[in-house]
Amino acid sequence: MTGMKTACENNSHWDAVHISFHQHRIAQQFVGQFLKASKDVLKHSNYTKYDKFHLWDYVAQKKADGLIKHLGFSFHAGPKLLDKLLTDHPEVDFVQLQINYADWENPDVTSRANYEMARSHGKSIVVMEPVKGGNLADPPAAVIKLFTDYAPDASPASWAIRFVASLDGIITVLSGMSSVSQMEDNLSYMKDFKPLNENEQGIIREAQRILGHSATIPCTACHYCTDGCPKQIPIPDIFAAANLQLGNGQMAQAKESYAAVTSEGHRASDCIGCKQCERACPQHLPITKYLAQCAEMLEK
Ligand code: SF4
Ligand code: SF4
Repeated sequence: MTGMKTACENNSHWDAVHISFHQHRIAQQFVGQFLKASKDVLKHSNYTKYDKFHLWDYVAQKKADGLIKHLGFSFHAGPKLLDKLLTDHPEVDFVQLQINYADWENPDVTSRANYEMARSHGKSIVVMEPVKGGNLADPPAAVIKLFTDYAPDASPASWAIRFVASLDGIITVLSGMSSVSQMEDNLSYMKDFKPLNENEQGIIREAQRILGHSATIPCTACHYCTDGCPKQIPIPDIFAAANLQLGNGQMAQAKESYAAVTSEGHRASDCIGCKQCERACPQHLPITKYLAQCAEMLEK
């Protein structure tokens, strides 16, 4: 850069280009690093930094320049903050929200309230976590029975995805497929999509009621908590093992799964309570409390 500046130092036009290019590079690097550090989502702990570092202005300019066609953000907080952001930034076209039938009324996730707030501002919605990190692909046995009694061939995941895809204003459902068979399943009901009918809506309400009484750990397996854990505890894998017992009473399978995910150590009881994980968890889960329960349940 020094060489370039020297070559341009008596030429105001090229100097301006240089500064502009330099600022653009810095802005690009900064935005990338900031979003990486923020885990790419707007939340209570970081939203003021978007103003402080002029990120809204930056992306609005990129939209004005034609580099961004539709502007939106991923959001992990409650409807009050969402209302403020959408009021302050009417230039936003869409919001990415965590919506699934299990978290529809969950006070920590507020799927319904966030959805309704975004729609009241006329925004389109991209849905993340429609299957709740895979949990709703394998819900408690009582929910599976409810679904299969009505439609024996429909997968539990299809109920979860159809629930969100039936809502008004949804432009994309990020279903998080991880195999060809999951893709084939998704295509089977999304290719010629039919929204949930009245009977099916009633079945979802009954599933919500059952899950409301479920003691499973509501982890979405996003892994935001694991990077900074000084004890390298596989937190979401441990919670998935515990949920086998908590959701379906499968203690033997839960212990087997726990033994597999902790085969190299890093057990729930190794937690030192630093709470780095809790600060990173977008679901605000009391991870240390859950880990203590997992250790009690699965290590004895
Ligand atoms: S509180 Fe426990 S699980 Fe969480 S980061 Fe610290 S050691 Fe890891
Ligand atoms: S950050 Fe929270 S929701 Fe995500 S994997 Fe960890 S415990 Fe689960």
